[in-house]
Amino acid sequence: CGIVGYAGARPALNIVLDGLRRLEYRGYDSAGVAIVNGELLTAKRAGKLANLEKAVTELLAEEAGHALGVGTTGIGHTRWATHGGPTDRNAHPHRSLDGRVAVIHNGIIENFAKLRAELESAGIEFASDTDTECAAHLLSIALHDAEGDTPGERLADAMRAVCRRLEGAFTLLAVDVQAPGVVVGARRNSPLVVGRGQGENYLASDVSAFIEHTREAVELGQDQVVLISGDAIVITDFLGNAAEGKTFHIDWDA
Ligand code: GLU
Repeated sequence: CGIVGYAGARPALNIVLDGLRRLEYRGYDSAGVAIVNGELLTAKRAGKLANLEKAVTELLAEEAGHALGVGTTGIGHTRWATHGGPTDRNAHPHRSLDGRVAVIHNGIIENFAKLRAELESAGIEFASDTDTECAAHLLSIALHDAEGDTPGERLADAMRAVCRRLEGAFTLLAVDVQAPGVVVGARRNSPLVVGRGQGENYLASDVSAFIEHTREAVELGQDQVVLISGDAIVITDFLGNAAEGKTFHIDWDA
């Protein structure tokens, strides 16, 4: 339902949680975040954002300087359940079995049953009832033969390969523990906007998530993939051809 991503130099957790708060008006039944900081950390809870915030606060209280509060790359999601009930385990992000990638998703992957059956017959055990989880497993598999000069480019390449297999409506964001500093996004039949900052960039399903940080935005076109890092925004189509989004200035009041 609501999607936020951040790549930059500041701790991502509060930026992502603030962004999710800005998207609360859209309605949701669960929420979660993933932060990359040498490892991939996720926290997710059914119910209001307050439940997630409580879980996060408890984790941070357990250990001073907990990696969750330190990492400068992160994604966050508010879920409106379509496949699988509104429970902790069905909340996003969903991770691959190897713990390498985390994925959040708005929309519906129409061919998920076929993809899930294929993955299960390859021995993958699912941890949720969502359509989304198959994208996390497909992404970690696609990373094995992804091409690119940097870990971030390989994550974008793997995302393109996954998107070519998905049917339906999706905005997807992914982080990869081996691609620190990078968030990759993709969209088909569901919105995704980039917020261009100074030494930091944002992704969101709706500009209101990042409007307090930047007014410079780029709307992704249909069937496009975007890679953001602190200093780059790289857009391609699902085949890897360079593409452009629609740049605009947000001039309404927050
Ligand atoms: N279809 C996904 C799910 O049920 C995503 C729903 C959403 O857009 O929040 O988990």
